[in-house]
Parts: sequence; C-alpha cells; structure tokens
Amino acid sequence: MGQKDDFARKLSAIKAELHSEAKLLIVSKNRSAEEVRAYYELGHRDFGENKVQELEEKASQLRGACPEIRWHMIGHLQSNKINHLFRVPNLHAIHSVHDRHLLDKLLAAREKLSHPVKLFLQVNTSKEAEKSGFETYSDLEMAAESLKGGGKLELAGLMTMGTLRTEEFDAEAARCFQDLNVYKAKLQSELGLRLETSMGMSQDYKIALREKSNWIRLGTSMFQA
Ligand SMILES: *Cc1c(COP(=O)(O)O)cnc(C)c1O
Repeated sequence: MGQKDDFARKLSAIKAELHSEAKLLIVSKNRSAEEVRAYYELGHRDFGENKVQELEEKASQLRGACPEIRWHMIGHLQSNKINHLFRVPNLHAIHSVHDRHLLDKLLAAREKLSHPVKLFLQVNTSKEAEKSGFETYSDLEMAAESLKGGGKLELAGLMTMGTLRTEEFDAEAARCFQDLNVYKAKLQSELGLRLETSMGMSQDYKIALREKSNWIRLGTSMFQA
C-alpha cells in the first residue's frame, strides 16, 4: 500500500471516531514536510509542532504548496523564541502557554502579529515534576482575565497531558482530563467565556474523546504502520 492510501485510511478511521465537537490535530514533529503535504492534499489543515525551529522550517517549505495550512505550536515554548514563532506564516494557535511569565511575554509581543492567534493555557493536571503548566485555579483565572483585552491573542481554551509514568494509565488519563473539564466549566461560568479543551495523544485519545475533548493531538498513530 502506498503512503497516500495509508494516510487516507488512517484519516478516515480517526474521523469516524470523532464526536461532532472534536477536531484532529496531526502532530508532525520529526516528520518531513512531504508527509505533512500528503495529509494536506487529503484535505487536512491542522498540524502541530513542538519546536519553534522545526516549525519555522516546515512552515516556510510548505508556504506555497499548502496556503490554507493552520500551524499549532504544542511544545514547551521559551520566551526568547516568541519573535521567531510570531513570524511563522499561518501560525494558528499555541497550545502550550505554561505560565504567567510566558503569557506576559506573549502579550508584550502581540503587536508583532499580523493576524489573530489562539491561545490554550496549559494545565499541569498530572503534577509530574517535569511537566509544566498552571497548577491552581486562581492562577488560571488571572491569566484568563489578562487575555480579555488581548488584541490579536485570543483565549481559546485549556490544554493538558495525561500522566505518563503510571501503572494506572487509563484511570490516570481520565482523572487528568476530568480535572481539566472542571477548570474549564468553572472558568466558563465565572468569566462568561466559551472554551475548548486540547487533550489526548495517540495513547490516550479514546479516553480524551470520552471526556469530550475538542482537540486530540495525534503523532505516532497517524504516521506509524
Ligand atoms: C508529541 C506530542 C503529541 C503527540 O504524541 P503521540 O504520542 O505521538 O501521538 C501530543 N502533544 C504534545 C504536547 C506532544 O509533544
């Protein structure tokens, strides 16, 4: 089977699993621009990268061939890379706004954007030491408040990752996703916002879909045989 047939089969299989308010983000990190283009030509538009430099390279390689692509930054973002990130053509969203310091730097640089960009506040629901993200409701609430006059930076929602190192993988993933939904519901009702969730990767996306995730981020399962 050729690559295109393989990708077409994967895409239709995953689309059949999505509920009506769920969307697929194809995570193309460590994959070639040609592979991104193959999915683009099958009609897919949303792609995620976790490193600014790799994102810049692919975005410029694909600028002509994929004019409607929407790039999502999903990895740990250092504030000294913001200017580079903001110059990426077709940058659509940043899923990994992990703390107040980074948010303030993003806000300070927002005039450099030529078009609106959606932000997801990352929440550390697993509490694993190496994971980043907001840890309390009050920090999240203040961050959400500060985006009310965010200009081209628009608060789109909340992002999290399930616990990786655990014997109770499924139960822990469900707990993390449920915790994110609690934060989302509270922010929506207290601040009058409409928020999406970005949760679920290849290993735990089925659990995330059961928890009504709006964006599942799939890398491995979209590219591996
Ligand atoms: C790599 C990555 C993914 C995709 O992970 P897979 O297990 O390959 O599906 C999703 N989200 C983030 C933040 C990632 O870094």
